Amino acid sequence: MFLELRQLDIQYPASPTPAVRGVNLGLRSGDIGVLIGPSGCGKTTLLRAVAGLEPISGGQILLSNRVVSEKGHTEPAERRRIGMVFQDYALFPHMDVGRNVGFGLAHLPKPERQKRVAEVLELVGLTGSDKRYPHELSGGQQQRVALARALAPKPDLLLLDEPFSNLDIDLRERLAHEVRNILKAAKATALLVTHDQLEAFAIGDVIGVMNEGQLHQWDDAYSLYHRP
Ligand code: ADP
Ligand code: ADP
Repeated sequence: MFLELRQLDIQYPASPTPAVRGVNLGLRSGDIGVLIGPSGCGKTTLLRAVAGLEPISGGQILLSNRVVSEKGHTEPAERRRIGMVFQDYALFPHMDVGRNVGFGLAHLPKPERQKRVAEVLELVGLTGSDKRYPHELSGGQQQRVALARALAPKPDLLLLDEPFSNLDIDLRERLAHEVRNILKAAKATALLVTHDQLEAFAIGDVIGVMNEGQLHQWDDAYSLYHRP
């Protein structure tokens, strides 16, 4: 398994009940996993823990069979090679698209950086948009720039937190299909959380249902969809 959660518990110090309880799941390299569940069920907390941004209070998180989080030990986010895309896009408003997408590539010499920026902009269908600014783009275009920025450093794992929820409903499902094709073309491994079932089935290979911190199912999308 590329990503493995074993009996994962996360308890915020200020809270009487754990935000995540006893979650087990495995995600294979190249697969897109989706967690569906209502607001407050622990999806964001779980993603942040996988990213290394939240300590865990029990169980383990493994990346490529290596323990990266357990109680009392959190390998820092910058050592995990993880990319993130959030619902509010969070593009830098004062930077053009090219600089936004190249943001995580500061370590590369300029010609290589420019080549990689052009590659990922092509992947998301925005070739030639590098001199435009975020406010000149539609919501769907901004979200594709955010995806390009996350893919640019070739992360091992991409985490997407409600990436389409600011978009209107028609665009949301279309973009979910599009993003699935982009992730497959990039051979990315991804874990996405959403409260929207249509979106989950449009994008996921494996789908889990979360409620009150617990994961109730974790199965491939086809067999969930065809279950009697
Ligand atoms: P989401 O449902 O997308 O997680 P929220 O509006 O619930 O968004 O949370 C927004 C931010 O506030 C998140 O960073 C979350 O971690 C934080 N947050 C949510 N609930 C609490 C809480 N009870 N106490 C402190 N911070 C919280
Ligand atoms: P979701 O992403 O599914 O909306 P969250 O992971 O944001 O759920 O929240 C799970 C639970 O943890 C909620 O009850 C929320 O209020 C609580 N919570 C989230 N962030 C914090 C925080 N920083 N401190 C305390 N409680 C939090």
